[in-house]
Amino acid sequence: MKLRYFDHNATTPLCPLAREAWLAASQDQWLNPSSPYRAAAAVRVRFEVARESLAERFDIAPGRVVFTSGATEANNAVIRHWAQVLPAGGRVGVNPTEHPSVIEAAKALLGARIQWLPLTCDGRVDIDALGELVHSGALLAVSVMAANNETGVIQPWQAIAELCAQAQIPYHCDASQWVGKMPLAGLSSCSYVTACAHKFGGGKGVGFLLLPSAEDACGSLLGGAQEAGRRAGTEDVAGVLAMLAALEDSSLGDTAARDAFIERVSAAVAGAAVVGADAPRLWNTVSIIMPQHLSVRWIRALERKGFLLSAGSACSTGESTVSTVLLAMGVSEAAASRVLRISAGSETTLEDWQALADAIAACYEWLNAEAAGSRSTVISIN
Ligand code: PLP
Repeated sequence: MKLRYFDHNATTPLCPLAREAWLAASQDQWLNPSSPYRAAAAVRVRFEVARESLAERFDIAPGRVVFTSGATEANNAVIRHWAQVLPAGGRVGVNPTEHPSVIEAAKALLGARIQWLPLTCDGRVDIDALGELVHSGALLAVSVMAANNETGVIQPWQAIAELCAQAQIPYHCDASQWVGKMPLAGLSSCSYVTACAHKFGGGKGVGFLLLPSAEDACGSLLGGAQEAGRRAGTEDVAGVLAMLAALEDSSLGDTAARDAFIERVSAAVAGAAVVGADAPRLWNTVSIIMPQHLSVRWIRALERKGFLLSAGSACSTGESTVSTVLLAMGVSEAAASRVLRISAGSETTLEDWQALADAIAACYEWLNAEAAGSRSTVISIN
């Protein structure tokens, strides 16, 4: 059975160019770039060229780029840095729908200094309320992601960057779901930008943190002089080169296939509701609350038909927890337990989207029949 993958916001397959770059570097550039001999210097040069080309994509100086093991590490680094350097007693504005690598780090390291930011009903940070907080001097820093991993809802990050720049306070933007899917222009106006390769065709365990300046003291791991002393540990040259190749190969999608899918599902499943329907959303993502049946039942039924997709939050080995993102958006716990998170990738075709819509319609009938106690209905495997 052909498997169709609709969980790209969780992770993406390694794209062919990234695989090639990783294999070539693992074969020819495996020396430690910090070793003292000339052969290692060639690897160092290659690594620094990669830093320059990433910096060029964001239109920033190479000294502002720190390579990390991914977005979790980079997000933790920014929050820890703020916990250390911002005056005690001041508040940090945090969007309540951030990824746990921001939320949990903020709870642990900032604690009572967190100011949860108000949201509009579609899950976007209320820019007017944020403007008031910023202009009144109530905030020392702000953390709001570019786009949400569960709902695809795009935050008004350009306006937030402008607000924070006017008030001269730092702004951290977790762009993990943005980079590789959407244009990079403007991101360099955020003080700190974090992202990871495995959301856009690179490998797992590699990412980056962009700093406001080459002199900024924000760092991650101690214990070595790598990354100008900001991130100790032997550099993952192959991983970084693969990430750059994946970024080079990434393409921006459009919303037509997604919107046709939504129409098809809405026609087949009365009462299915798209989360953040009125907000700008990533072209690849649909978060949809089904009128009946728990997410886990949908996911199992759809997997039996060859479709891999996700619920709103962590859902593994059949255990699911209700999405804090949806709860923060005011969705009831009952509705949040019926959500499906669908996220396409660059290889997803219009036909894949249509096939998924048809499979959802078929599964709905089957799940309804099963719930009604019918033993005679047998799910058809295609
Ligand atoms: N931030 C967002 C928005 C994400 O979607 C993810 C991944 O799920 C992360 C951070 C964490 O990234 P990583 O897997 O590189 O640690």
